[in-house]
Amino acid sequence: MDLRELGWDERREADFAAFRARGWEPARVVNEDKLAYLVVCASGDLPATITGRMRHLHEDNAELPKVGDWVAIAIVPGESKALIHEVTPRRTQITRKVTGRESEAQVLVTNVDVAFVVQAMDETFNARRIERFLVMVHEGGAQPVVVLNKLDLCAKPERLIKTAKEIAGDTPVLAVCAKTGKGTGLLRELLGTGRTAVLIGTSGVGKSSLINRLVGEATQPTLEVRERDSKGRHSTTWREMIMCPKGGLVIDTPGMREFHMWTADEGLDETFPDIAALGAACKFRDCTHENEPGCAVSAAVAAGTMPKGRYASFQKLRRELATVEKEKRVHDRKHRSKPRGEDRHWNGEDDGE
Ligand code: GDP
Ligand code: ZN
Repeated sequence: MDLRELGWDERREADFAAFRARGWEPARVVNEDKLAYLVVCASGDLPATITGRMRHLHEDNAELPKVGDWVAIAIVPGESKALIHEVTPRRTQITRKVTGRESEAQVLVTNVDVAFVVQAMDETFNARRIERFLVMVHEGGAQPVVVLNKLDLCAKPERLIKTAKEIAGDTPVLAVCAKTGKGTGLLRELLGTGRTAVLIGTSGVGKSSLINRLVGEATQPTLEVRERDSKGRHSTTWREMIMCPKGGLVIDTPGMREFHMWTADEGLDETFPDIAALGAACKFRDCTHENEPGCAVSAAVAAGTMPKGRYASFQKLRRELATVEKEKRVHDRKHRSKPRGEDRHWNGEDDGE
């Protein structure tokens, strides 16, 4: 395995010198499952665990290895497994904020070069959501790209593209169709050898379909497709990281797939600070501003000081978030018995709790 294909470069090599001197070698984390890792090093992939020292030193979960990390490993002599000694400094990361717990951030994936913020050009299109996801990508240091998918379903794409461009500013906006492949070549160009991408977006916008386009073949079921691929172009799939045949890596972890759920609850007050401020005067603290008595927001709408259109988009987003909240509660209930911070391993399967 040529580590450069995984994103290794001269700067990383230089920074790694002290670790080399201790007999350790670099490897990239491509899977994580409750502190059981899969790493890829020069000689191939290996299961790995962290050292006891590391477990001890880094009580803060954010400092433990995550998918995307470059780590210093020692291969256990005579066994095909590795011990992770250190996590090297991260260039970028995608985090979710854990609300209600003194602004704790949970690191989902690291060393991401480009983050595709995906939206569908259908009735689910939501400009505010693009905005929120862009903020998060910017905070973590990755390069964002707005991807408007399902071009085929939109009669007048110009309007949505214009709206997205207004929000995106300097961030590129691409209109694509995962179904026909139109425009998806541009995504591949942004990836390139050694570059790592993630896709961010609510479920159903077409992330998996786009990943399949990037990879240039159906990743599932992988083996059959690969064996039949006569051109010999292969993608390499570790469960949570995929190497594209034309170069570049895509990270697809359960945590990333559920990303939108984790971020939903921050959006409302942030997006409608004027309504949040008015709401402080409502009779009920948990007022939904729908039709409760003593609602200051409804009063403002009636008096004409709060624009009806803005109030309507607030209610639309609020209902949408309430649905996500409900999904999340179901999710949390399922995973109540698990230790904190480990819920991101959920892979959509009911694991018999
Ligand atoms: P994900 O949940 O974000 O991974 O979304 P999927 O890739 O599973 O896509 C959700 C649904 O949208 C599937 O039925 C796809 O076939 C469909 N879909 C994805 N991309 C397109 C597209 O460009 N056009 C159309 N018409 N359907 C699409
Ligand atoms: Zn109210």
